[in-house]
Amino acid sequence: MNWEEFESKAQSCHACGLSSGRTNVVIGRGSKNQGRILFVGEGPGENEDRQGLPFVGQAGRLLDLALGALEFSPDDYYIANVVKCRPPQNREPSEEECEMCLPLLRHQFILLKPRIVVCLGSVAARNLLSKDARITAVRGEWVRKGNTLFTATYHPAALLRDESKKADFYYDLKKVRDTAAEIFKTEN
Ligand code: SF4
Repeated sequence: MNWEEFESKAQSCHACGLSSGRTNVVIGRGSKNQGRILFVGEGPGENEDRQGLPFVGQAGRLLDLALGALEFSPDDYYIANVVKCRPPQNREPSEEECEMCLPLLRHQFILLKPRIVVCLGSVAARNLLSKDARITAVRGEWVRKGNTLFTATYHPAALLRDESKKADFYYDLKKVRDTAAEIFKTEN
């Protein structure tokens, strides 16, 4: 399945109850180049649902600012979420909803073949790293699965609630940037 086929399949997904409240299926944004970085958040919020793009609200602006400040190249990353439809009242997606939606993220993984996956927040960490992952315990750690390195940091929305997390967030992203630079240097 190519990107076009995948996106059309995702747009018509009704595999879980979240489909009933959505305006748009929020698939992802960024570079579709293979072998780069995949950032994975939790799920769309109000702005994302309205615009059909992930991380376009306040938290997204913070993420974009951080990636810009750390000079990540826009060609080097793609941003997606564990669930593609907005949970009501921005609640955390349930385990079941995540499970139903993960095949779509797996398909994005197959298309992107990322060398680095960055879990943004505990929902992504629990679904991609380990079931009982706590973000405070796993952030900044690296796990290799096949040809891909997985790591985690705070969800940018957490920084809006607690500014003291900003320094750690920047520190983690800086490590991602430096690790990516090393990998890309040897592979390009
Ligand atoms: S959240 Fe995912 S599994 Fe549920 S309807 Fe939306 S796209 Fe389908």
